Amino acid sequence: MTLRQAQDGGSSATRSARFLIVGPQGSGKGTQGVLVAGAYDVPQVATGDIFRANVSGGTELGKRVQAIIEAGDLVSDDLTSELVRDRLSRPDAAGGFVLDGYPRNRTQVDHLDAFLEGRGESLDAVIELSVPREESIARLRQRAVEQGRTDDTEEVIANRLAIYERETAPILDVYRSRGIVVRVDGVGTLDEVTHRIFEALSSRGLVPRHPGAAA
Ligand code: AMP
Repeated sequence: MTLRQAQDGGSSATRSARFLIVGPQGSGKGTQGVLVAGAYDVPQVATGDIFRANVSGGTELGKRVQAIIEAGDLVSDDLTSELVRDRLSRPDAAGGFVLDGYPRNRTQVDHLDAFLEGRGESLDAVIELSVPREESIARLRQRAVEQGRTDDTEEVIANRLAIYERETAPILDVYRSRGIVVRVDGVGTLDEVTHRIFEALSSRGLVPRHPGAAA
């Protein structure tokens, strides 16, 4: 019995909610990912947030990845996948999760597949937030002003978007061939986009446990 089923008194009707949210930097996927996680009662697992917390906390991991993150390059696949496996092995992720920022290339897709298959699990949906390039750049510039992130400089923004287009966007084809991609227009107000995500997931039978948390 999964943790969620146990919380439900063992109801076998409880579905898992194993989601991945994919979109270019500045697509709003971080914010939307948190809302989806809240509504489906599962943890949001954002690799960028985990790395940044380690950098600001001055941990060993943080020291290893700091320069890579500041340049907007990718941390090694092995290190990142190990971090994610550890996180997904915690009890709160037994019934599901919202992955944000991982997998980011084909190798990481393979790593995640192997991990989930080993547990008899698979992703239920991949939410693709579709936002034009110019809109992403405008939002990242705005965030640079508001949050002062060291990887939101012009040069690094360009590098991160190039890596997204070259390495991350193609993973959507892999998931599309499995029929699990839910494409959502990411242009609009926060609430509009959230509403679209919930409609799209619900129409696939993936109904939120706490829809109010996202409305
Ligand atoms: P994000 O907040 O998702 O844009 O991630 C910030 C930075 O963390 C990225 O530019 C990478 O340096 C690193 N990072 C996050 N997720 C991954 C991943 N799946 N693989 C490699 N590096 C990652």
